[in-house]
Amino acid sequence: MKLPFLEPAAAAVGGAPRRPRVFPLALLGAVMLCAVGLFFGLVHPVLAVALVVLLGAMAMALPERAPEPVAREPDPAAAQRAAEAAGDAKVRALVGALPEPALLLTPQGEIRSANERLALALGPARVGDPVSFVVRVPEILDAIRATAADGMTRRVEFAERVPLDRWLEAHVVPLHLAAVPHDGEKGRPAAPDGVLLTFRDLTQQRRIEKMRADFVANASHELRTPLASLSGFIETLQGPARNDAAARERFLAIMAAQARRMSRLIDDLLSLSRIELNAHVRPETEVELSSIVAHVCDTLSPLAKERGVELDVAGSEMPLPVRGDRDELIRLFENLVENALKYAAGGKRVTVTLAREGGGDRPVALVRVRDYGPGIAPEHLPRLTERFYRVDVAASRDQGGTGLGLAIVKHIVARHRGRLSIESEPGAGATFSVRLEAVPYFDEIQYKSVS
Ligand code: ADP
Repeated sequence: MKLPFLEPAAAAVGGAPRRPRVFPLALLGAVMLCAVGLFFGLVHPVLAVALVVLLGAMAMALPERAPEPVAREPDPAAAQRAAEAAGDAKVRALVGALPEPALLLTPQGEIRSANERLALALGPARVGDPVSFVVRVPEILDAIRATAADGMTRRVEFAERVPLDRWLEAHVVPLHLAAVPHDGEKGRPAAPDGVLLTFRDLTQQRRIEKMRADFVANASHELRTPLASLSGFIETLQGPARNDAAARERFLAIMAAQARRMSRLIDDLLSLSRIELNAHVRPETEVELSSIVAHVCDTLSPLAKERGVELDVAGSEMPLPVRGDRDELIRLFENLVENALKYAAGGKRVTVTLAREGGGDRPVALVRVRDYGPGIAPEHLPRLTERFYRVDVAASRDQGGTGLGLAIVKHIVARHRGRLSIESEPGAGATFSVRLEAVPYFDEIQYKSVS
């Protein structure tokens, strides 16, 4: 890089010596002295000529002195322009380095600089264009005008509906970019000569807040319903049905069912929060998936019998080792098979199939729970694993459902770094498939180490 202010020093240190200004005068003096000496016979002619030639050669050997630079009058406008250009480059670099979408504006609202993140978030911005070409939110444009006038920082929150629902926050900050700030009116701060506009996407934060609020509202609602029913029956038993033994037996049975529902809900809520708490810790213990699935089907065979459903398991004779949490995997397949028996009992058949896909160093264990019931309409499929989401709320409550079963399934699969997929055709049943990374067999490991 060229550093102009270093050049004179470099010349002084490493450059050629300059021919001194006194040298031509000395040469002229020597020539004149030789001429006088020759005239009066004081110097030998050969010596005089040799002396003149020697001095001449020395004069030639020394380089010419560079002409003295003409001292120029400083140009204040040019200096200011240069300073502004240097300042602009620095400001552009700073705006470019900001981690959030940012726009630097003149106090009149013209774009001076914009970073790449802004182009991604709000679209391209051209230097010199009015800010309203990029930002069309009236509250932000008002805030820019006000900040340019009074030098106060402002914050504006706004929502966009197109192309996607999102919430954003804009910060409007006054800047004093000039080296010497413009004088303000007496006693008042100088007006800003720039306005920095930065944006923050609040969508994720808002979604989490909404999910939390919805979750609390849903959980309270789910608990309040059986609680209200319990309170009602207690009042009835204390009052009008005090001496009615038959009614007491009937009401106590309903109360017991409601109490069970509440306790199931609390169990589900606790499991969900426990699984979420450990979501980042992948289970490391090796467990046998075939025996887990066989155990689940054995446990649920009385329910299958009660509902008149034939529950078949295929492929469980083959060992299928995976790394997992045994209790969570039992919970996962219990939820899927129980749902199939509850909601698809009309199909009279549920098949659970185990298989191993791939091989080599990345085998996959696949478990499919297939029913032949009413199936699930496509519009419900993406939302099925949301907490408290049910296709038919009354049907779920009738079956003792909490609306948390598939949410728990999704979280267990995620903790095991697996995949859950749901396929269904209304009227033709549903298939819930779980894919987990399988532990390679011994010969596969050997194959890998040889290849
Ligand atoms: P629930 O406690 O209500 O069973 P889940 O999260 O387990 O909650 O299931 C959510 C909803 O998905 C159920 O209410 C039901 O409407 C639907 N569903 C789940 N499995 C099936 C299935 N095999 N066939 C039809 N619908 C199902």
